[in-house]
Amino acid sequence: MTYDEIFRDEREPAMKVWINGKFLDEAEAKISVFDHGTLYGDGVFEGIRVYDGRPFQAQAHVDRLYESARRLRLAIPYTKQELIDAMVETCRANDMIDGYLRPVVTRGRGTLGISPFKCSNPNVVIIAGQVALYPDEMYAEGMAVIIAKTVRTSSEMLPPSVKSLNYLNNILAKIEAVDAGVAEAIMLNANGNVAECTGDNIFIVAGGTVITPPDAAGILLGITRAVVGRLVERLGISLILKDITPQDVYTADECFLTGTAAEVIAVTKVDARPIGDGNVGPITRKLMDAFRQFVRSDEAYK
Ligand code: PMP
Repeated sequence: MTYDEIFRDEREPAMKVWINGKFLDEAEAKISVFDHGTLYGDGVFEGIRVYDGRPFQAQAHVDRLYESARRLRLAIPYTKQELIDAMVETCRANDMIDGYLRPVVTRGRGTLGISPFKCSNPNVVIIAGQVALYPDEMYAEGMAVIIAKTVRTSSEMLPPSVKSLNYLNNILAKIEAVDAGVAEAIMLNANGNVAECTGDNIFIVAGGTVITPPDAAGILLGITRAVVGRLVERLGISLILKDITPQDVYTADECFLTGTAAEVIAVTKVDARPIGDGNVGPITRKLMDAFRQFVRSDEAYK
């Protein structure tokens, strides 16, 4: 099973899509071909898990969505609370107990020129979908990844902290992973240090310390990364944010990825080199367990 197969097409009966304040059947939920989201990837999005009918870390996701939009000078025509309420309604409208929400904000219908200022109203969409866990074997045994040759866009170009509709940089690295027969790729930044994966943040464990690249490495500031960081500290394990080189990854005792879709998953092979003893390490296993408990706790939704 490849990474993409975790997004399953289980839309029977047709999902109700929230689009600009209304629920429409999937077949009716449309935006213009002149929308700059389509023409230029001009827009922002989020991916949010729903556990027990509750959108996980909804406030953090909505805060990041608005921050991404602000960086693109895209004004979202709803308050953050209205959007959170709409996400909860989208779960209800689709009887979704455990699933995935995809809020998308596009620049709106414009001309064929790139100016965002000629566009009319942004389109705001919330899609409800299903995201299944990797097969148990992958969580039990870990996954293999490569280090991609495609370099992560730097903050001076397209800041990776903006979760924009332009994912081509990540897609090019993903193609490298698929070509190499693995599920994910680690992307380096322009300095040659580890940034993140195509859809996940990365951590290593060395000498009992958990290490992850700093915000300045040019990464998406993952919500799962932040939650896992708190869980690391709660377990009494030290956490350091510092630059990681490819060599640090090859020689790490453990390596794991975090993300909304992946949750917490061990990496046991990088570029065909086993990490540590080649098995899921003890700290990774503890964090996987702690994360699974956390997402079902009331505390996660306060
Ligand atoms: N990096 C990238 C490039 C991503 O697309 C994602 C998934 N949103 C992540 C990291 C993980 O972020 P989060 O934990 O917020 O899902």
